[in-house]
Amino acid sequence: MRDYDVECIRCGARYAKDEIVYTCRACGGLLDIKYDYAHVDSDKIVKAPGEGVWKYRALLPFGAETVPVTIQEGNTPLYRCDRLGEALGLRDLWVKHEGLNPSGSFKDRGMTVGVTKAVELGVKGVACASTGNTSASLAIFAAKAGIPCYVLLPKGKVALGKVAQAMMHGAQVFSLLGNFDDALRVVRVLCEEESLYLLNSVNPYRLEGQKTIAFEAAEKLGWQAPDRLILPVGNAGNISAIFKGFQELKTLGITDTIPMMTGIQAVGAKPIVNAFKTGAPEITPEPKPETIASAIRIGNPVNAEKALHAIRSTGGLSESVTDDEITHAQLELARMEGIGVEPASAASLAGLKKLVEQGEIQPDERIVCITTGHLLKDPERVIEICEAPKEVEADVAALRELMK
Ligand SMILES: *Cc1c(COP(=O)(O)O)cnc(C)c1O
Ligand SMILES: [Zn+2]
Repeated sequence: MRDYDVECIRCGARYAKDEIVYTCRACGGLLDIKYDYAHVDSDKIVKAPGEGVWKYRALLPFGAETVPVTIQEGNTPLYRCDRLGEALGLRDLWVKHEGLNPSGSFKDRGMTVGVTKAVELGVKGVACASTGNTSASLAIFAAKAGIPCYVLLPKGKVALGKVAQAMMHGAQVFSLLGNFDDALRVVRVLCEEESLYLLNSVNPYRLEGQKTIAFEAAEKLGWQAPDRLILPVGNAGNISAIFKGFQELKTLGITDTIPMMTGIQAVGAKPIVNAFKTGAPEITPEPKPETIASAIRIGNPVNAEKALHAIRSTGGLSESVTDDEITHAQLELARMEGIGVEPASAASLAGLKKLVEQGEIQPDERIVCITTGHLLKDPERVIEICEAPKEVEADVAALRELMK
């Protein structure tokens, strides 16, 4: 068994590896998986064979005997974006497109680890609340593992492609009369009482999978951390996970620096931005979160404490963007770089643009933007804003007439 501890980030209380616990029973704090880094061989990361999340299993909480539940997640491309960079006045801009995971979002990285843990624990089923992508991802891994899956979605608030995935892969889907934060509150109690395994990002095993975004980004840059990492923030698990990944690389002496972690939220759902800007130690939840970027329509981010630490301790930033700015950035990614993303993902670029205009970001920074989910997940707005296909007779002259 790889040696690690499950530890409360506030009071340091420790929990056994086979104990099912998501937040500290003593103080309510978030949990983290801690390794004995002195005994991790950095060559097992730097020279590991294979690709994807499990390539980095020297820093995953499983022994060599564990057989992962995997659909070959991770190993997503890191694109150099010179056209977009030039338009923004940036010299070294990259986009890591997490929409190219098996279910179309980065959630797969967390779920391969989370569902592997669920199987190891021998639980009778897995469950989550979701704005869409978590449920789609959990459904595919539960299908692969052959275990029951229950998902709670806020009614009328989830993009069609994501619901279709959860349904098609065999999850029991519930349409909850309430928002995401209500769904998470309900499913947490359900999991306690019914002995189901909760796979929202409050579960620290999920973040272990997601931290591999940092490993891959650094690896593709020749084992160097970028100066800045920008991503959309909803429940704030991903920013916390990626920060942890970069911290580990530095601890092991693989890289020298940690990027300035920069989290972007939508104007209608920005508790982290508010806390960052006011210097408040904790967030004030937003009771009625609203934005077209449904994946980050979250008012009470469960990982806020970890995320604020990630942003503050790296000299990072946090900014909010409007729905129009998100849509515009989505169009630019699609048309200047060939990168098709769902609205939430475009928040990273929209935020970058805003911070550059404010003079907060220097033109020569090496910047990696994470685009979290695929365009096909949520094409509704795209169909509204793009010119509709023109109907044409089956005749070349008629076609030529209509072409611009
Ligand atoms: C889940 C998700 C997010 C938000 O990630 P958090 O870890 O909740 O902050 C952003 N974009 C997409 C596409 C997502 O699926
Ligand atoms: Zn505690």
